[in-house]
Amino acid sequence: MWRFVNEGFGIDWWLSLFVFARLPSRRSPYAVHLTRFTLLPIQAVPELPEVEFAARRLRVAILGHTLAAADVFHPSAARHLPPAHRKALVGRQVSQVERRAKIQLLHLDDASVLEVHFRITGDWAFAQVGDEAPRFERVRLDTREGLRVSLVDSRAFAVVRWHAPGTFVLPDLGPEPLGDDFTVDALRDALASRRAPIKPVLLDQRVVAGVGNIYASEALWLARISPETPASALTGPRQTARLTRLRDGIQEALRTAPATRYYNSGIHDGSPYDEPQDWRVYDREGQACARCGSRIVRYVQAGRSTYACGKCQR
Ligand SMILES: [Zn+2]
Repeated sequence: MWRFVNEGFGIDWWLSLFVFARLPSRRSPYAVHLTRFTLLPIQAVPELPEVEFAARRLRVAILGHTLAAADVFHPSAARHLPPAHRKALVGRQVSQVERRAKIQLLHLDDASVLEVHFRITGDWAFAQVGDEAPRFERVRLDTREGLRVSLVDSRAFAVVRWHAPGTFVLPDLGPEPLGDDFTVDALRDALASRRAPIKPVLLDQRVVAGVGNIYASEALWLARISPETPASALTGPRQTARLTRLRDGIQEALRTAPATRYYNSGIHDGSPYDEPQDWRVYDREGQACARCGSRIVRYVQAGRSTYACGKCQR
């Protein structure tokens, strides 16, 4: 634990220890995480780095375990995971935990699949069977090995669905932004026929999988490209430098996220991370651009907040 403290936990981490210390019945090593998630929600909507981090924690915790029970604690969760599907999970062994875009997939030993979307506020909480339930628990998976994995979700928009063996089909997704397939040529092909502004186009999962609202703004700032630039205008013969900056910007924005740094450093064993994110433009309306000093502006594109510097993003 001291190792993590030394690596930069802030005041809310210490506060969470204080809260934890005041709750008498929490003995699980994961209880600190449950406590700080439910009482001190500092995390924004989980984007790709957070979902990757969550999937890795889940994989470390549950891979090879056999499910003993599946329960739901919210009408929405019950609708997506009806009794017959919960029953089908019992006795199945988790053979793989995979992430594609922001979808987590638990592959089970009968080739059925549990599909998980965190949506707005979902996260995993890990404990032992019999521990006190975390706040906002919506779905619970108990394993024969004694692990309890809870989907905690204050807004209750998360979705957990079971798919019978051989029936799961992934939606049409573009390349993973940090994968080898996300080349400048692939990005050019995906944007060539799109005349809409680049920012909302980047949110289309068929262009690049898993880039959400925050990282689209951050990437465009890094690339010095205006969010209003028509996507197809970046695909012309003289645009390769800009397009390369965009591809690199998307990757840099994701690679420098705290969650990415944590899992790249090997810390994905159920421990929390709560390094504050220093956004470059996101949520910084009115503040000075770190590159040119102009004020960062906020406006709405396709119903979503966009943040940008009006001077150095062209
Ligand atoms: Zn600027």
